[in-house]
Amino acid sequence: MDIRKIGVIGAGQMGNGIAHVMAVAGYEVVMSDVSQQALDGAMSSIGANLSRQAARGKISDADMKSALARITTTLKLPDIGAADLVIEAATERESIKQAIFEDLQPHLKPETILTSNTSSISITRLASRTDRPERFMGFHFMNPVPVMQLVELIRGIATDEVTYTACLGVVDRLGKTAASAEDFPGFIVNRILMPMINEAVYTLYEGVGNVNSIDQSMKLGANHPMGPLELADFIGLDTCLAIMNVLHDGLADTKYRPCPLLTKYVEAGWLGRKTSRGFYDYRGEAPIPTR
Ligand code: NAD
Repeated sequence: MDIRKIGVIGAGQMGNGIAHVMAVAGYEVVMSDVSQQALDGAMSSIGANLSRQAARGKISDADMKSALARITTTLKLPDIGAADLVIEAATERESIKQAIFEDLQPHLKPETILTSNTSSISITRLASRTDRPERFMGFHFMNPVPVMQLVELIRGIATDEVTYTACLGVVDRLGKTAASAEDFPGFIVNRILMPMINEAVYTLYEGVGNVNSIDQSMKLGANHPMGPLELADFIGLDTCLAIMNVLHDGLADTKYRPCPLLTKYVEAGWLGRKTSRGFYDYRGEAPIPTR
């Protein structure tokens, strides 16, 4: 299948990274969002990230300019209709994703492949509510997209081989590596990563350590490049909580119970880096632990 045009829905931290790497790989990209501010923010992030790559000699100035020229933005979801491959990267809420696919469906070509960058929502369930469950799969990038090598490709129960092979071809063209995962809550990476982050929050909640000692312990004691709380802020605490809820509901095991302190941070709107406050406060020169 010939994939040339990619539709990216959601221009948040993941959507802008996906648009960036697709454009650098030579795909035409249309990126949509419900917020003009999000679209403007995404284009300025992409510009800044491409400039950084150019300054480091990873891409040429000409490639940077042509990549930027391959990205268009829109507030109108039907403009995504002409895409060969759609990657939905909107807010991690099932009702939002379901509404997007429903609204998009009448505008799509019959052969268009639909995918979701969801971290945890059932691909089979999202697919079953579309007109093309066999042409639907999980296309799960890691954050930050331009830097991280892995893409999890998740087959729903109905996903056909043509769809899987086409998506694998896109991952190859991006120069990234695909891991094939079955459609169970959290897939592979988050099934393992999120309970560790949640446990770090419990460790903080119970006073076993403070933010600094927990992050330092895992960096120096387990050789992790980032501490779990720093990583949680980076991912977004709302996203972490949503994934824990999916693991808890989907696997019905109390070991996935979200830490009440994680819920409290989300209720406060302290969602991590994207709101300038989470387990660290990012409003000053250097991040300061909030506990
Ligand atoms: P984000 O909050 O940064 O961005 C979400 C964007 O979706 C916002 O710009 C919002 O305006 C937009 N949006 C909301 N409703 C919409 C609609 N109806 N139509 C179009 N756009 C809409 O979130 P994010 O971190 O970029 O996460 C996006 C998706 O990627 C989620 O499914 C998340 O689980 C997944 N993901 C996140 C990470 C991570 O580390 N943050 C990693 C892998 C996958």
